[in-house]
Amino acid sequence: MTKVVVIGGGISGLASAYFLSGKMDPSSVTVVESSDHFGGTILDTKFGTRRVETGPDSFITRNPSALELVSDLNLSDHLISPATSTAYIYSRSKLHPIPAGTVFGAPSNFKKFFGNSLVSKAGQMRAALEPLMSHAKIEGDATVGSFSVKRWGREVTDNLIDPLVGGIHAGTVYQLSLAECAPQYLKAARVSRSVSEGLKSQMANYTPSGQPAFYSLEGGLSELVDALLDVLRNRGVVLAGNTKSTEILSVAGGYKIITQDGALDADGVICATPSYITASLLRPVSAKAAQLLETIDYASPIMTLLAYQDDAFRTPPSGSGVLIPRTNRTLSTAITFASNKWPNWKKEGETILRVSAGRFGDTRAWDFNDDALVANLETEMAAILGTRTGSLRSEVFRWRKRIPQFKPFHGQLIQRIRDNVPSSVELAGAPFIGVGIPACISSGSLAADRLIKNFSSPR
Ligand SMILES: Cc1cc2nc3c(=O)[nH]c(=O)nc-3n(C[C@H](O)[C@H](O)[C@H](O)COP(=O)(O)OP(=O)(O)OC[C@H]3O[C@@H](n4cnc5c(N)ncnc54)[C@H](O)[C@@H]3O)c2cc1C
Repeated sequence: MTKVVVIGGGISGLASAYFLSGKMDPSSVTVVESSDHFGGTILDTKFGTRRVETGPDSFITRNPSALELVSDLNLSDHLISPATSTAYIYSRSKLHPIPAGTVFGAPSNFKKFFGNSLVSKAGQMRAALEPLMSHAKIEGDATVGSFSVKRWGREVTDNLIDPLVGGIHAGTVYQLSLAECAPQYLKAARVSRSVSEGLKSQMANYTPSGQPAFYSLEGGLSELVDALLDVLRNRGVVLAGNTKSTEILSVAGGYKIITQDGALDADGVICATPSYITASLLRPVSAKAAQLLETIDYASPIMTLLAYQDDAFRTPPSGSGVLIPRTNRTLSTAITFASNKWPNWKKEGETILRVSAGRFGDTRAWDFNDDALVANLETEMAAILGTRTGSLRSEVFRWRKRIPQFKPFHGQLIQRIRDNVPSSVELAGAPFIGVGIPACISSGSLAADRLIKNFSSPR
């Protein structure tokens, strides 16, 4: 019987096991997870009277794989979408609406863009030179920041593009790959001399599906993890929690997965762990793949839940939240007005905020213990949102090395890693297709397909 071990029980590993067990004997699939919690970064906590998310709180629908999985698991009736998507950017001690006439932060329609309160007149005039510029020449890839500074200037880049594009990766556009993190700009640059014009036509050709851009589930994203675990258990997949894998050894006819409790034999392996862990697992079978995997950097955000009395706010927060550009030098990088965004989180008289702190290259928030961090964030909330008191309740979640940074030529790096991984070992997870939950699910599905294909026609 062909045996597969999936290492890592986050969404990527669980999705890998789900797709594998639909195509082979489920009892020959084992998922090993080092902690007592399956779901990895998808984690909720009891905060006051209800459970709230401490990691991701929604998934995008543009990549349909999460929505398809939700449907396969009969959870479509539980889908909920954010009640509001109006977001603000904090700059010069004020909240500004995200300027109109922009696509993913980049100005595309200058009639609508002019007159916004975020970017200064000089910054708007500089951005408006873009349509007069010569064709953007990109040799394969560049950083989003170097590209956007050239096209729209430093102010638009720092105040608009960095918080929007860099924010998704808890990183900085001055290090993130244009091809991976802002492919829309690259696509626009390929079809039009002016990138702004190219983005404008992308928007004109875009037909809205009528479907919300983001979804969650009534019981939060843990409902997706719980439903996946139920199906895997019912199918007979072996779920080994509290089982840390330390290395993969090549043995006659297959692999031995060494765990802290012993060893598991396998014909195939899917590594769905963060890339620096995958590096140490793979080192005995491919020193080169390990060395390449180690070059992927990670950001370490901290998520703090803060519950305030409604009347702590001079003006009740409206919309879904605030993005905070790096230039403000605050510890907080983004604030979600969680009980506005998800009305089912609302308790009468209380407002719940999810405050993210720390991003790649800025680890100051990690220097504080939880109490000191909360005190600092409360001071920042007073300055940014006008709160007049401290919070009623708080909880801090530290996500060390959780968000991979896609540097220029990341796609080529991933290809080189794959080329150096031995036969019947596949890789899944946030570093491979993208950091969002749908991309992680796609990575699990592709890893499962490749492994099954490999079993039927060995390399
Ligand atoms: C604060 C935060 C907010 C986010 N918000 C969103 C959002 O709103 N929407 C969105 O789509 N995405 C969001 N993301 C990104 C998304 O949550 C992650 O990219 C995704 O969950 C990663 O899943 P994964 O399975 O690849 O990795 P992980 O979730 O990191 O899972 C890896 C698993 O491997 C286990 N493991 C590690 N080492 C070993 C070992 N040696 N042996 C066995 N097991 C091991 C770990 O314990 C873990 O369970 C967010 C991320 C963070 C940190």
